[in-house]
Parts: sequence; structure tokens; C-alpha cells
Amino acid sequence: MVEREERFIQKRAPGTLAVKFPLRLPVNWPTGPYMGRFLKEIKENAKIWGVKCPKCGRIVAPPRTVCGSCHVFQKEWIPLGNEGTLLYFSVVFQKFTDPQTGEERKVPYTWGVIELDGGGVINHYLSETEITKLLQWRGKRVRAVFKDKKDRKGDFWDIKYFTLVEE
Ligand SMILES: [Zn+2]
Repeated sequence: MVEREERFIQKRAPGTLAVKFPLRLPVNWPTGPYMGRFLKEIKENAKIWGVKCPKCGRIVAPPRTVCGSCHVFQKEWIPLGNEGTLLYFSVVFQKFTDPQTGEERKVPYTWGVIELDGGGVINHYLSETEITKLLQWRGKRVRAVFKDKKDRKGDFWDIKYFTLVEE
């Protein structure tokens, strides 16, 4: 963050002034009942749950109150496996300021799209960043690795990452 501020200050238009104004705004907000239940299950039981649309049958995780396609309430909670199949991945090498933390995100990291057992597709970090290895992971089984229970805070990052299930 500091490095980025310095670059911004150095690149400003000639003749303009720059003032450093460090600002921290810690904010808490309610998760709502659906996301709250989802996060509580991860925190307390290391279990991933989703909800099922009564009309189209699609399972969504993290859960949403209303189906994005059918616009009907989704009240049926479905326990999903903590394992699934890796569909896609992206390896990120470009540094950027994480909007959730205000800190520079450590790179490289890998973001995966995982179809969970029981339905639902979730996006999360993968433990591997070597592209040649990741290409072997596509279509294979991956599992969620959770933080130790004492370290879980009730957020999405209580799942550390997904990693390959060794066969
Ligand atoms: Zn639907």
C-alpha cells in the first residue's frame, strides 16, 4: 500500500501538490441470515452448505435468499461435500491492493472454480501455483482445507484453500 501511494505521489501532474492521508475505516456489517448460517457452519463445523432453488433445482453456495434465474425464495438447505471437482483456475501474478483488506495481495496465487459434491459451484484459492501442476489438477478431486478451529473467525477465509485429493 505504501509503495503504491509513493508511486501515485511521484506520478502526479507537475505543479500539483500531494498530501499523504492515511485512513483506516474498520467496518462491521451484518451478514444476514443466509450468509450468516453459511459462515457459522464453516466456522463451527467445517461444513459447506448451499441452498436449492425449488423451481430450477440449482444449488447455490454461498447461499442466496432468492434464485438469480427464477426469482423465487430458496429455503431448502443442502449439505454439500467439502470435496469437489476442479473445473477451472487462474493464477494471478499481478500485484494489486486487495479491496477487502487494503493491503497488497501476495502473488502468485491461484483462484479455482470448484463444483462441490452435492451440487453448487464455489470459487476459492487453490494450494498450488505451478501452472504445469495445475494443468494436471483440472477435472480432478480437490478438498477444502480449513483453518484450525481456534483460528476461525466466521468468514469465507476460514477455508484456507482447496487442495488436490491424492488418489
Ligand atoms: Zn431457480
